[in-house]
Amino acid sequence: MPVPYRLAERLTPITTVVLAGSAVFGDGGFALIGGPCAIETQEQISSAAAAVASAGGAMLRGGAYKPRTSPYDFQGLGDAGLPLIANAGGSHGLPVVVEALAERHVPLVAAYCDMIQIGARNMQNVPLLRAAAQTGRPILLKRGPAATLEELLAAAEYILVEGNPNVVLCERGIRGFDRHTRNVADLGGALRLKELTHLPVILDPSHASGRRTLIEPLTLAAAAAGLDGAIVEMHPAPEQARCDAAQAIDATTFARIAARVRAVRAALDESMLFALTT
Ligand code: PEP
Ligand code: MN
Repeated sequence: MPVPYRLAERLTPITTVVLAGSAVFGDGGFALIGGPCAIETQEQISSAAAAVASAGGAMLRGGAYKPRTSPYDFQGLGDAGLPLIANAGGSHGLPVVVEALAERHVPLVAAYCDMIQIGARNMQNVPLLRAAAQTGRPILLKRGPAATLEELLAAAEYILVEGNPNVVLCERGIRGFDRHTRNVADLGGALRLKELTHLPVILDPSHASGRRTLIEPLTLAAAAAGLDGAIVEMHPAPEQARCDAAQAIDATTFARIAARVRAVRAALDESMLFALTT
């Protein structure tokens, strides 16, 4: 049987470098993405952008269309959120990543954003994968909460076969049996992914843990283990976040994490980093 992910398969030690505006994934660095779960107001997303930029973060995140478990929870600003995050990123020199929740969101997200996120719930939504791929924008593909690594790679393959080589994979926690963390951060799985594929792999410690106290140690673990980056939920006023408040960190914590990530990466010498990231 052919490998279901022959374009994604790792055949050489070289990791594919994916660019999203000025953000670089897979070059041996650690791309730190920060921003709120949901775009709420211009002031909120601009303040988040200022914090990401001053911490030396690579990219701004924020959701316009939120895939909430309950239909009674805040669903995001929708289309109206896109100009707000584009404006915030633009004013602070940051590229932006936003999730397209449905095929109909793809053209607008591609027009306003540097990278399109495909969320965990949509990992195997083939028409959405194809539509996002066809825009030519780099894609941040999140692992489904119950998806195997092979299924994630096969989903990435749908993007690659469309002729779009710019895919970054994201481990965001898989479904476990213990309530103390929202999901299980599968760090071992993320490292195994790097053995299986040449695509960059990042960690989302926020959805993986659901707890703000765990964001820093998980991000530092990802940096020390040789992953290619992290996407972290950060809010200017975490307690007031309209979405995922329990896992939101503040700007000060984000800046400290960014500094400590740099210290961790500096502590790895080149041969160690090469061994870890290939
Ligand atoms: C998000 O990044 O805001 C999000 C909803 O993530 P996930 O698809 O991993 O749940
Ligand atoms: Mn969230």
